[in-house]
Amino acid sequence: MCGFRVLLFDLDGTLLPMDTGQFLQAYLTTLAPHFAPFMPPEQFVQELLRATREMVENTEGSKTNAEVFWESFLGKTSFDPEQTFPVFEQFYLSVFPKLHVHTQPTPLAREVLTKAAARGCELVLATNPVFPRIAIEERLRWAGIADVPFRLITDYETMHYCKPNLSYFQEILEKVEVDTADCLMIGNDPAEDMVAAELGISTYLVEDCAVVRDEHTAANINHRGMLEELVSFLDSRSFNNGHHK
Ligand SMILES: [Mg+2]
Repeated sequence: MCGFRVLLFDLDGTLLPMDTGQFLQAYLTTLAPHFAPFMPPEQFVQELLRATREMVENTEGSKTNAEVFWESFLGKTSFDPEQTFPVFEQFYLSVFPKLHVHTQPTPLAREVLTKAAARGCELVLATNPVFPRIAIEERLRWAGIADVPFRLITDYETMHYCKPNLSYFQEILEKVEVDTADCLMIGNDPAEDMVAAELGISTYLVEDCAVVRDEHTAANINHRGMLEELVSFLDSRSFNNGHHK
């Protein structure tokens, strides 16, 4: 074991090094023109961000993230799902893959996951579920970890909350049937990932592409280091198994 039964890994900026802000910008400016026949690109971006915000802030729990997003997006635009869904689908199939140039994949991601799995840890891909499964699987391919046997991948089709809502982490705990004390959340964002500490989940900030946040989020960081140091961190924990907090 590695000291924890379940490891929760963020993807963007953690297992897949990238400047998240820059990637999001590239994603939006590439996506928007495909909808030009229906809406001016600038307005499309605004509507997409508005619906995404509504999805992220939703606390209802009875609807999946995808349902919240589409209800919001279609409810306030004149988009016809029959016309626009195929455009999204085509975009994710043939254009989204080209966005990999905005990421900097590292073999360390595979090394960390393989070693953790070899020590008997279960792996959860705890990526913020704001993307469809197809876009998550594509990014896993860029990261060179598409074949890693994740116990759970949090996509927007099945999850009911987004980070940094604590209910997002609670939903993972329920799905994987694990106690907070047996989990480690590994991510690059003090606000969105390390917030899991407020539930009693141990946290590890990967500093390679760490997002800079307010001072007050620092209290939730239990451990920190470069991705390269994570393997030795997990090794050191395995010797102290049963004695970690
Ligand atoms: Mg991240």
